[in-house]
Amino acid sequence: MGRIYNFSAGPAVLPEEVLKEAAEEMLDYKGTGMSVMEMSHRSKAYETIIGEAEQDLRDLMNIPDNYKVLFLQGGASQQFAMIPMNLMKNKVADYIITGQWAKKAYQEAAIYGKANAIASSADKTFSYIPDCSDLPISEDADYVYICENNTIYGTKFKKLPNTKGKTLVADVSSCFLSEPVDVTKYGVIYGGVQKNIGPAGVVIVIIREDLITEDTLPGTPTMLKYKIHDDNKSLYNTPPAYGIYVCGKVFKWIKKMGGLEVMKERNEKKAKVLYDFLDQSTMFKGTVAKEDRSLMNVPFVTGDAELDAKFVKEAKAAGFENLKGHRSVGGMRASIYNAMPYEGVVKLVEFMKKFEEENK
Ligand code: PMP
Repeated sequence: MGRIYNFSAGPAVLPEEVLKEAAEEMLDYKGTGMSVMEMSHRSKAYETIIGEAEQDLRDLMNIPDNYKVLFLQGGASQQFAMIPMNLMKNKVADYIITGQWAKKAYQEAAIYGKANAIASSADKTFSYIPDCSDLPISEDADYVYICENNTIYGTKFKKLPNTKGKTLVADVSSCFLSEPVDVTKYGVIYGGVQKNIGPAGVVIVIIREDLITEDTLPGTPTMLKYKIHDDNKSLYNTPPAYGIYVCGKVFKWIKKMGGLEVMKERNEKKAKVLYDFLDQSTMFKGTVAKEDRSLMNVPFVTGDAELDAKFVKEAKAAGFENLKGHRSVGGMRASIYNAMPYEGVVKLVEFMKKFEEENK
């Protein structure tokens, strides 16, 4: 079976064990005589699947009882609208612009109210995280918004911003379950699952219960109200049932591996191999401030677009897929999510060394 090392930023590599298990259960899920894809979302079997998925996520992230877990659709991008529609009571929100995804969220919020860009790293092509210890937080801000890990640029907030008491909302799409988090520091944590957790089509929203109210912006569609999904335990309408089932399997896989502390250790070990190589290479260079480096997305360049293209092409031929950087920045990017094995990164570095030798 020809599996390659897939460094895609998302949809991305999933644990092989999970894929095998899903394959085994494809035709007959636990004696039901049907695939989870064919199953009613109101059935007992499915109730157990979604219930266990939620509980396992709660266990992994240590989610307090006053936070709700919602399994929704529409991708992370739909949250760019849902967040202001549900949270902008004063119609004011502060955004920290650390990349394209934060910027898109900010632009979407500006449709519904006054969105303030209170900090930005656009001046240096988003290659760092701004100092967020004393920002001009708006007095009447409904929330402060961050994109915690910037998938395209490869930066991560190592320290959460000082929101001066305001609710923190974080897009964690590309760092979900990559390390332990203190959920109580946030009002909303959300992310598309297609990087670290499961197949595209599911977005998970973890939200403090007092933020779920009837009081949404006028005209908010029923499907975009957190309250309707919370009242119906994510089963208001047909959920992305198969996707949630695979997420549930990934939660169990992470639990079996030892939980988020172990994920963090594994991710640090993997990222170190790549960053240490980049730091001494005479050909390849990392593109972001060292102290803000992401454990998940590692962009790098040779400084020569032709050489970059040659590298991507030869890497692909050698079994290292999806190393091309995001179309907006060029260069290369290795996304090394939870399911990327350590040896995948070691082999990539060996390949990079060889390429450097051959192209001096
Ligand atoms: N936020 C981040 C951090 C992302 O990396 C992405 C893209 N994958 C998005 C939001 C948009 O996600 P989606 O395609 O699920 O709308």
